[in-house]
Amino acid sequence: MVTSIKNKNKELFQCDECGLKYADKAMAEKCEAWCKEHKSCNLDIIKHSVRE
Ligand SMILES: [Zn+2]
Repeated sequence: MVTSIKNKNKELFQCDECGLKYADKAMAEKCEAWCKEHKSCNLDIIKHSVRE
């Protein structure tokens, strides 16, 4: 399950598998699906992650 994190004025979505956060829920779900299946990270997906 992708976790939704509410910040001051924005909402982020966290991949439960690798812990990366995304501004886009669809991206977080994509990441999680990939992480579960491949047990690794997909650079094309994680480049969309948000750094805090
Ligand atoms: Zn992930």
